[in-house]
Amino acid sequence: MQQIDKIYINGEFVTPHGEERFELFNPATEEVIGTVRLADEVDAERAIAAAKAAFASWSLTTKEQRIAVLQRMHQAVKARENDLLEAIVTEYGAPQSRSRWMAQYPADVIASAIEALENFEFVEQAGSAQVIMTPVGVAGLITPWNSDAGFICNKLATAMAAGCTAVIKPSEMSAIQTQVITEALHAADIPAGVFNIVTGRGEVVGDVINHSAGIAKISFTGSTAVGKHIVATGAQSLKRVTLELGGKSPTLILDDADVAQAVPLALAAGFMNSGQACVAGTRILVPRSRQAEFEQAVADAVAQIQSGDPRDENTEIGPMVSRKQWQRVQDYIRLGVEEGAKLLVGGAGRPDGMAKGWCVKPTVFVGHNQMRIAREEIFGPVLVIIPYDNEAEALAIANDTAYGLSALVLSGDRERGISVAQRIESGRVMVNTLAYEPKAPFGGFKQSGLGREMGKWGLQAYLEPKTLMVG
Ligand code: NAD
Repeated sequence: MQQIDKIYINGEFVTPHGEERFELFNPATEEVIGTVRLADEVDAERAIAAAKAAFASWSLTTKEQRIAVLQRMHQAVKARENDLLEAIVTEYGAPQSRSRWMAQYPADVIASAIEALENFEFVEQAGSAQVIMTPVGVAGLITPWNSDAGFICNKLATAMAAGCTAVIKPSEMSAIQTQVITEALHAADIPAGVFNIVTGRGEVVGDVINHSAGIAKISFTGSTAVGKHIVATGAQSLKRVTLELGGKSPTLILDDADVAQAVPLALAAGFMNSGQACVAGTRILVPRSRQAEFEQAVADAVAQIQSGDPRDENTEIGPMVSRKQWQRVQDYIRLGVEEGAKLLVGGAGRPDGMAKGWCVKPTVFVGHNQMRIAREEIFGPVLVIIPYDNEAEALAIANDTAYGLSALVLSGDRERGISVAQRIESGRVMVNTLAYEPKAPFGGFKQSGLGREMGKWGLQAYLEPKTLMVG
């Protein structure tokens, strides 16, 4: 049992003013594995004050000074990779295919922020004026549970690279992973107050951040509903916001695609991160002329995918993070049946032979784009195949969604794939690949978000252009 009873304010581990204890679970066994003492409003205000005080000097540091601190941070996080891996598997349930990547990514993303900073021009000439990119102030960084350390490190490294200080509000469900990262960041000897971590409830600590005039900018990753709430409450102080929200991403399989290549990529995109991925390709669009062939290939492939114990090396899909998330996914599977979708493979309940653990049978429906299972984000390993008659209809279906975070096009003809990709309304479109490019901007069109993270675009989001004219 791990008892986490400290938060991190002004360079120190301190006992929170908040007294609520929140239980932490192993989602593979449903056992309680620890508790975390949550921060409250008083703690949030203290953290904001510390970040504000630190901003006075951190905002004046040079690029070289920031790079030196970020390099220490990179080393310190890298040094804790194995501890992080253990926490990710135990507390989050990520299977081996995912957990090692998730343990390495936090250090990698700090390295990407360093590279973006090295290449960033803070001063530009615009006619007779000098334009100076100036840090916005204290950033509130609010993160979800599906990649705790990755989101914390990406947002914090970018904010610090820009010259901002930060108050971080991670998910209360990821407290063990957050503890490993906080210890690593502490070891990096970052000046006191530059980062503060207050694990607490969204409607308590999060709402102090949303309302505080001391917070100039919020970078949030999580649900679209909370993102809209942040925009509404932040309007009072005209906060800058970057929102990375949900998705219902399409995978367009064109009629010239090779079934043996397309199906594994489509399923990898759909079941990514055990289905708990904002970018998951949850709508698979197939040509009606080849529907039977694709359905058969998907059913055969899914039958081979193991959902279960994340410590079993054959497992590709781990448990859902919580009982609530498991129940939500079960409800959507039942809804799909009620809506009249054809259940191709999977279904409600735990995988066969499993009595415990929040595991889900990988499930694929065949339906149409107006069904709720095709319109709402499920956040579990539940996909829907949608047949189309021609390319124009495929594009119309792909774009007929409130979201626009990611898309995948699979085609035997690269140029045709690119031409289709250009007509998809989405922050990111991949053609015949699931490769990831950390130098490129990441974010959503429509209700998948506002603004971008990563690269120079991510850095710009923590800066205001200041025009300087000298007579
Ligand atoms: P969530 O929106 O409930 O919570 C995200 C974070 O916001 C948590 O730290 C939570 O405590 C906090 N929060 C909750 N209410 C708040 C409030 N009133 N004010 C401020 N903060 C508040 O989402 P979740 O259940 O943790 O994560 C799942 C959702 O996140 C999914 O919808 C998924 O699509 C989305 N997500 C998006 C991305 C992306 O990059 N676009 C990445 C991961 C997850």
